[in-house]
Amino acid sequence: MRYVYGPVPSRRLGFSLGVDIVPYKTCTLDCVYCQLGRTTQKNVERKMYTRKNDILEEVKEVLNKKQRIDYITFSGSGEPTLNLDIGELIREIKALTSIPVAVLTNGTLLFMEDVQKDLLGANMVLPSLDAASQKVFEKINRPHNYLKIESIIDGLKRFRKFYRGQIWLEIMLIKNFNDNTKELFRIKNAISEIQPDRVYLNTVVRPPSEFYAKPLSRDEMMAVKNFLDKSCEVIAEFHGQRAEEPQNVEDAIVEMTKRRPVTIVDISNVLGISVANAKQMIKRLKAKGRLKEKQYQGEKYYSYYK
Ligand code: SF4
Repeated sequence: MRYVYGPVPSRRLGFSLGVDIVPYKTCTLDCVYCQLGRTTQKNVERKMYTRKNDILEEVKEVLNKKQRIDYITFSGSGEPTLNLDIGELIREIKALTSIPVAVLTNGTLLFMEDVQKDLLGANMVLPSLDAASQKVFEKINRPHNYLKIESIIDGLKRFRKFYRGQIWLEIMLIKNFNDNTKELFRIKNAISEIQPDRVYLNTVVRPPSEFYAKPLSRDEMMAVKNFLDKSCEVIAEFHGQRAEEPQNVEDAIVEMTKRRPVTIVDISNVLGISVANAKQMIKRLKAKGRLKEKQYQGEKYYSYYK
């Protein structure tokens, strides 16, 4: 499978079948906390990056396996709205299945009318908003020169007015970047103008692109939640049920690690294998040179060895 991966456990979406429609690290941003490393192709130009039919064939193949899938999610290794075909892909996937479609986006292109129209067919849009001032936006997200936070927030507000699906906003909090009262106050105002259905607060829980992107503690996260709005949710780690066991567990582990660094518990949860079994598999894959290990915040993460 080239474009479709999972289902993988998602903290918000249960078992999510990922659809990755832009080349690795093709993004409008280069966030200091990105789990995938630095952006190699930073641009804002929408293109046909992939052959639509190839993606649809892969989705059909996975759907035929009748595994548990709670959402089909456009996400992965870059910004999905950069792909000009996203609107048509959403429509065609919805014609294939009743499984809801979600789009994980950094939200930076939602000020464009064509992007807004393309996402109308999705059941849920999950944009990020880590800053509300240009200065902090540039520090955290290192955007393409063309992008201004004011128009991004304005785009989200306009999208909210006519989009009938759910909008779940995610804010990534980074120590000494956007956790000061001034920036949080601006973010709070932006949230009240955008009016998302839900707001999730996250912090740097997986190895970031830059070592200086540090997480907030649990208590600090709770303080931010109380400051912004008590109904915000601090995203907890996933505790889902087992997915179907794939045919080739080693390959499935490698596929998971291509998208983001994972822990042994992640692997055990998503593949429905015991922690001991997952450990053994990891050991084998490391010996074969297919995975590398990284310690972060006292936890071991495994990623694909490129
Ligand atoms: S975190 Fe998302 S938006 Fe930020 S650089 Fe990585 S892929 Fe792009």
